[in-house]
This record gives sequence, C-alpha cells and structure tokens, in this order.
Amino acid sequence: MSYDESPPPAQPAAQPPAQPADRPPARRRFGRTGLTLTIALLVPAALAGRLVWQGMSGPEGGGGAGAAVAGSTASPSPGSGDDANGDAAPGGTLAGKVVVIDPGHNPRNFQHTAEINKTVHIGDSSKECDTTGTETNAGYAEAVFTLDVSRRLATLLEERGATVRFTQDDDRPYGPCVDERARIGNKAGADAVVSVHADGSAAGNRGFHVILPAPVTGGGADTRPIVGPSRALGERIVGSFARETGSAPSNYIGGGTGLDVRKDLGGLNLSTVPKVFIECGNMRDAQDAALLTSAKWRQKAARGLAEGISGFLAH
Ligand code: ZN
Repeated sequence: MSYDESPPPAQPAAQPPAQPADRPPARRRFGRTGLTLTIALLVPAALAGRLVWQGMSGPEGGGGAGAAVAGSTASPSPGSGDDANGDAAPGGTLAGKVVVIDPGHNPRNFQHTAEINKTVHIGDSSKECDTTGTETNAGYAEAVFTLDVSRRLATLLEERGATVRFTQDDDRPYGPCVDERARIGNKAGADAVVSVHADGSAAGNRGFHVILPAPVTGGGADTRPIVGPSRALGERIVGSFARETGSAPSNYIGGGTGLDVRKDLGGLNLSTVPKVFIECGNMRDAQDAALLTSAKWRQKAARGLAEGISGFLAH
C-alpha cells in the first residue's frame, strides 16, 4: 500500500546514477554494437582454448584442471560429451541464443535499505523490491558470490557464442527490484534466464537446489507457458551442476531431487521466458561455505550452470 508513498531518498553526491534497466551493463564487452567484434575475437579464442585443453592431461576436476581456474577464458569441459558443447565448433553452438544472468542481490543493497524495502507487485502478491542476501559466518557476502559465479558463467557462455546480458553487474547502487529483474529477461527475449544465489539456512543443511516457477496467474503474471520449459532447464542444471561440482542436491529442500517449486518469487512469477533460480549451497554451513569461498569451486559451479543451459538450449 505504501510502496509508492515514500519520497525517494537523496542520492549521495558521489553515488553514480542508476542505469537504465535495459542498457547492457558497463562491464559487458559484448553489447549490441560489439557483437560483430565479439564473434571475430571469439573464433581464435575458442580455437586457442581447444588447443590448450587438448594439450592438458588429467581427469576432469582433478589437479590438472587447476590452470582453468580463476578467470580462465578457455576451459571447455571434456567431462560432458553428452551435452551440446561436447564437441563445440569454434564460433559456438549457442550462436543466436540470448541468456540473461541474474546475479542475486547487489553488494550495495545494504546501503539502500529504504529503496530495497519498498514493495513491488509480483503478480498475485507483493514483495520487497530486493534483499541484501546472506553471507558466510566469516562475512563473505552472497551478493559478491553471485556476481563472481555469474561473470564466470558469462565467459563460458560467450565462448560458446551466446549473447549474455546481466540484470546487474555491480554497476548500480542497489537492486534492481525483483520485478525489474524479470522484465530485463523478458525484454531481452531471453532463451533462458538463471538467477544465481546461495542460501542462508541452518548449519548442517547442505547442497544445492534449483527453484522452478509454480503456475501463477493474476496481477499481470502468467507463468503457465514457462512452467514446462523452466523445469526442463532446471533438471538439466541439476544434473550438470552435480556432475561438475561434485556437490549433492540439497539435503533439506526438494527431497533429494535438487528441485523446488515456488510461487512467491517475483523474479519467477513475472517472467515470460524460461527461468530458474539456483541456490548453489548454504553459506551458513561451514562445509558448504568452504566450497562457496573457493574460486576453484566457483569455476566448477559456473561450468555446471553453463553445461545445463547449453544442454537445454540445444534441445
Ligand atoms: Zn539470494
């Protein structure tokens, strides 16, 4: 009721202005105008990556993969020959596909509590614009984690030729709100959208799960057309994420399936394109936190997501 009655707080003078929602984030190298250049650059990069990889030995995920960690631009995964990219041609099997990556929360949301606490319509109900997210007991923020995994994922998808857009790339002071996050995917005409998160559950609760949209109608929402394809996307990601990370599906949500269905997430309710959330692990569990804070593991997580998305888009 009161969401539109609060006066907008004054922006600190040094704060950069919020960017339009549909503008490619500043970091993205591959905006509309850069696409041609991107493709020109990707071909030799992909060739180089394949040559580098073919020169490496050792099992997938073993010590031999260490060179692929932390910002590598060429780490095709040979352990997934059953997926679309298993023998990806240079130039990419995802050419023409649009993937929107939604890094959950925003590292500066905590400085903008008034804005993010405003409520927005999420179809048949209302919810806060956004939340701060959780953190590990040592203070590693979920919003930092989600950006890191998302950027790694973007690199992998772009190597395969996809056009990638972010809902935010630490390029705005807060948010965007969950309804805007959904609209960014819709406006992009995304073939797939993945919202990246990590959970903040009780210690002892471990593992990852993918959240699927429930059928929701009303208030401008109608998820019925995306329920099926979103499930297909989510099931792909569960399989590939488990395989690439070695993590098990959640032991506290989803009954071991790694899947949950929710009707209370605006980012899903308002989506008109296939979309899922993933909770990559539980930041409040020490064992999961050790994984989530590892750059090597985050690269595996990004690979798991890229494999799942690629498999979905290829079928
Ligand atoms: Zn989250």
